[in-house]
Amino acid sequence: MSFFNNLGRSMTRSSQRGAKRSPTPTSATSEVPPSPSIPQAQVAPVQKPLYLCSPFVEAALVKGNFKTIVMLPKYVDIMEWVAVNIFDFYNHLNEFYGVISECCTQQSCKTMSAGTNLSYTWINQDRKSVHLPASTYIDYVMTWIQNLLDDENSFPTRSGQDFPPSFPSTVKHMYRQLLRVFAHIYHAHFNQLLHLRSEPHFNSLFAHFLAFGREYELLEVKDIKGVPTAPVGIGALWEKWKGMGLLEA
Ligand SMILES: [Zn+2]
Repeated sequence: MSFFNNLGRSMTRSSQRGAKRSPTPTSATSEVPPSPSIPQAQVAPVQKPLYLCSPFVEAALVKGNFKTIVMLPKYVDIMEWVAVNIFDFYNHLNEFYGVISECCTQQSCKTMSAGTNLSYTWINQDRKSVHLPASTYIDYVMTWIQNLLDDENSFPTRSGQDFPPSFPSTVKHMYRQLLRVFAHIYHAHFNQLLHLRSEPHFNSLFAHFLAFGREYELLEVKDIKGVPTAPVGIGALWEKWKGMGLLEA
């Protein structure tokens, strides 16, 4: 099912307005050269993130494949279905971030990190790409999304009022930013989720988000995986869940 192809030209036109926020690799300062006294072979490999390790990677509230719960219900308009799901993803993610936000400070997360060599940048008013502390970045994203959800012209709730032609590009943009919030939480705050024993809840929310995003073409593979020189940490989680049959291969 192609959500975007249904909308044809309006999508092409409106997508040109969207700000491009390509993942920008951080500088190489995080790479620590091995000490000359230690033979190369003894240098410890980069530790695998806990979210990729058993039993955490399998922890879930929902068992089985997510395909069935993302399918468009009969008689439901596709725009309505996308709108209501985005509304739910946003609210659930906001609640999770609210719980761990005291650990996401300007000191702990100086950038919007999402991988060992990846921090997302924000495009400011001068169209410059800048690094922001993760808490500021996420605050901007969540405020921007909340305002869109509250805007009757972007997300109409009254019967008889149509969704605007720009709706597909708007939701795709929102979706990509929500993915970045997930990516930061997994990368930088998974330990805190474990302390709260929230990993089954968070994994299920994220797997649902990924399944929905792929089904309705709201997410592209490059958004999920990043580029080889600066991979997104959760790209490996996506691959793992596909291998486990949780998500469509
Ligand atoms: Zn953080």
